[in-house]
Amino acid sequence: MLLFETVREMGHEQIVFCHGKNPDIKAIIAIHDTSLGPAMGATRLFPYVSEEAALKDALRLSRGMTYKAACANIPAGGGKAVIIANPENKTDEMLRAYGRFVNSLNGRFITGQDVNITPQDVRTISKETKYVVGVSEKSGGPAPITSLGVFLGIKAAVEFRWQSQKLEGLKVAVQGLGNVGKNLCWHLHEHGIKLFVSDVNPAKTEEIRQLFGATVVEPEDIYSLDVDIFAPCALGGILNSETIPLLQAPIIAGAANNQLGHEQIHSQMLVDKGILYSPDYVINAGGLINVYNEMIGYDEEKAFKQVHNIYDTLLAIFNIAKQEGITTNDAAQKLAEERISSAKSSEIYQVSA
Ligand code: NAD
Repeated sequence: MLLFETVREMGHEQIVFCHGKNPDIKAIIAIHDTSLGPAMGATRLFPYVSEEAALKDALRLSRGMTYKAACANIPAGGGKAVIIANPENKTDEMLRAYGRFVNSLNGRFITGQDVNITPQDVRTISKETKYVVGVSEKSGGPAPITSLGVFLGIKAAVEFRWQSQKLEGLKVAVQGLGNVGKNLCWHLHEHGIKLFVSDVNPAKTEEIRQLFGATVVEPEDIYSLDVDIFAPCALGGILNSETIPLLQAPIIAGAANNQLGHEQIHSQMLVDKGILYSPDYVINAGGLINVYNEMIGYDEEKAFKQVHNIYDTLLAIFNIAKQEGITTNDAAQKLAEERISSAKSSEIYQVSA
């Protein structure tokens, strides 16, 4: 990989290679853009097949965080850290050494919990740095606010597609009934929506059937249902060349990260099929809004107010896509880049950690 060329192309400000012998640690912190505020991005610990794969992951995910924060209208930038290690070899000493690296950036990078990092690990890291979120018990976790954001995103998609605010009687297929999916089902049921659900865990589908009268389907049957909205709330990569031909729902709006198998190819396939796709990092920004509010001192009212921006932002994205004949994914990126460049010229968003 031509490092500086790649970084210039992707627009990163700084890449930090963290190395220590005792304890043994190899980590990469990628800071993509701090025009709107300190770079926020969780830390992932993973046994990458190569150092290049680790770097690519950090570069790609940190850029995604910049767009996510910009679309969510919060004064934060994008970052991401990866620790190259086998989860079995994770030690408190390693996490504390990593915490010292984070601390040395003096608040330019603020991190939290991602793959193979537990809430307990976050507490360990926080012994060395205050620039870590997810330690506070006050917010009660991100799922309630994420699911509210997804619900508001569904409302925006319905409004755009059918110029209607009526949700009652619509049919929604929810894939995955974990922390977010279950909460989302509650919102949808409260608004008279008929639910179709799937999960690989039968206890979860049974619970939602009993609570909300949902129709339970097998995991492989969720794609082809004749419903109004498909809400993926389980895995990434589920919108791909095998599943898109099966879809009947005219709207996709769900919480799962990285829903598109391939961003360009599959977002275009959805357009060609006449499906309105709500970009995942816009509709699921409630989690980021939650941790941002933890960072500045948690105020539940303020956090829930900010999540309502998701509705307006998605409507703006749908309109840009329609007017310019581009995918909603490209429209989201365009909106984010406009917000960043206007912050760069005015500097009114600049905040310190
Ligand atoms: P979770 O682990 O609590 O729930 C995921 C659920 O999906 C589980 O019940 C699991 O059994 C089910 N599942 C797994 N494979 C499945 C399959 N093939 N078909 C149907 N169900 C399947 O996760 P969560 O916190 O509810 O998050 C859901 C998604 O939203 C994830 O992609 C996550 O990255 C994303 N997300 C979550 C938040 C948040 O606040 N928790 C924020 C942003 C994005």
